[in-house]
Amino acid sequence: MPIKKENKGRYPKNWKEIRKQILQRANNRCEFCGRENHSMVDNGHGKMIKVVLTIAHLNHTSEDCRPENLRALCQRCHNRYDAKHRAETRKNDKK
Ligand SMILES: [Zn+2]
Repeated sequence: MPIKKENKGRYPKNWKEIRKQILQRANNRCEFCGRENHSMVDNGHGKMIKVVLTIAHLNHTSEDCRPENLRALCQRCHNRYDAKHRAETRKNDKK
């Protein structure tokens, strides 16, 4: 998966290996919705897109690569998860 340049240093050297293990654990499917990696799905607007699984950090800490903090997610679930986190972060900022 593409890693943003500024975040690259935060990933461990064996990230590729970790990523592989997580995808194996997930049976190459999204751990939230069960969609299979590289399968074609409707994006909700009548357009077919390819599922690409990425690894999400549940606590949003890139350094934390314990298996329990990592989930193989399709781009849709990953975006949704991150959006929820962003909304919560904003909410907390206001307090
Ligand atoms: Zn999903």
